[in-house]
Amino acid sequence: MPKTLIEPFRIKSVEPIRMTTRAERIELLEAAKLNVFKLRAEDVLIDWLTDSGTGAMSSRQWGAIMEGDESYAGARSFYRLEGVIQNITGMRFFVPTHQGRAAEKVLFTAVCKKGDVVPNNSHFDTTRANLEYLGIEALDLVIGEGLQPATIHPFKGNIDLQRVEALLKDRGAQIPFGMLTVTNNSGGGQPVSMANIRAYAGLLKKYGKPFIMDVCRFSENAMFIKMRESGYANTPIKTIVQEMFSYADGATMSAKKDGMVNIGGFIVLRSEEWMDAVRNVLIMTEGFPTYGGLAGRDLEALAIGLEEGMQEDYLRYRLRTAEYLGERLEAAGVDFVKPTGGHAVYIDARTVLPNMPMQHYPAWALCNALYLEGGIRGVEIGSVMFGKRLPNGTETYHSMELVRLAFPRRMYTQSHFDYAGEVIAEVKEKADSIRGVKITKQSQFLRHFTCECAWV
Ligand SMILES: *Cc1c(COP(=O)(O)O)cnc(C)c1O
Repeated sequence: MPKTLIEPFRIKSVEPIRMTTRAERIELLEAAKLNVFKLRAEDVLIDWLTDSGTGAMSSRQWGAIMEGDESYAGARSFYRLEGVIQNITGMRFFVPTHQGRAAEKVLFTAVCKKGDVVPNNSHFDTTRANLEYLGIEALDLVIGEGLQPATIHPFKGNIDLQRVEALLKDRGAQIPFGMLTVTNNSGGGQPVSMANIRAYAGLLKKYGKPFIMDVCRFSENAMFIKMRESGYANTPIKTIVQEMFSYADGATMSAKKDGMVNIGGFIVLRSEEWMDAVRNVLIMTEGFPTYGGLAGRDLEALAIGLEEGMQEDYLRYRLRTAEYLGERLEAAGVDFVKPTGGHAVYIDARTVLPNMPMQHYPAWALCNALYLEGGIRGVEIGSVMFGKRLPNGTETYHSMELVRLAFPRRMYTQSHFDYAGEVIAEVKEKADSIRGVKITKQSQFLRHFTCECAWV
């Protein structure tokens, strides 16, 4: 048997990408205030900023786009998607939203109140921001291994059940529900085991708390369970997915991830009472409950995308891509979160730039260096994203300084990954010449998206 795991698709439509010179990239980055979010996408060669909504749809999805029912209320496309989601999740009540953060905002507004506290393995940045905006504390309780980039563990996304139980005992009255993010995006795209999902659900149930999953990457998580957790090697992905959902009382999803579409999200719940509260908020901000901020054609594409995202040959190739780049980095002596996650590779910037002080934001600096060296755009997951400037002018720093290279689904081929491996190795060679930044302008929430920086 040949060992190479090939892309399980062929290309039907192509989109050119453009190389720039280093001199051009220096100018472009400075014009972007040293913030890669402010670059024009056409000035990026390989865009690994995010896997969110950036993937390629299949010819079947494009075909279904024409079948979209654009009726305001009761569209056929809604019922088709509802059927698919009910089948996958086993939950009865579903509404679409325009993307994941809208699902979060609507759900939290409907069922939480100021002073609440919500535990999670790691809150994604929009999840945290939406909770904090409502005056709710977002607590990250991932297991210790999940915070150690070099430690190998099959399920680094697991939540620390002891700390969860202590929280339930101490502050139970303040907890509206427990959350769990599969896979754990902020913690390195690391999976959560079925055993952990089951035990966490059991614990929440014991204390009478609902269990809400953030299921942006439920299919990738299911594939990790199949490959790594005993007892699942011969279980079909969909069966694993259905078991994962069977423990939860509800879920929020950004369909821009494992939904295999460019826009969309949803909320799914078991409780009719909660869904009534959700619908009231949804109508005010997203739209009527049968379209929730999306077009009928988006609902059609999602109905197919959710099923395509669970195909095993696709998932095998998907997880292998990240692992493959990891092998290139290992060979170049660049440290990263191990083992590689589902949708991305997270470079540990502190080991590439060991001498750079935290105030110069090492992961942000490395991100800029990858663009300057090879036109690659990644994203900082470190102290610009998760640190805060306090009223007294001092800063808090994040526990890790990572650069995430996130891979759009079904888009880049093996040679793109080979090229990236070479660029990263080159940057590592030149580490001493990489410059840090200071933030010159920032907003109160999610500052990384819009902040302006200058070289230190
Ligand atoms: C992307 C993401 C979200 C937010 O979804 P958007 O569609 O970007 O609004 C929430 N949680 C996790 C884990 C995510 O990866």
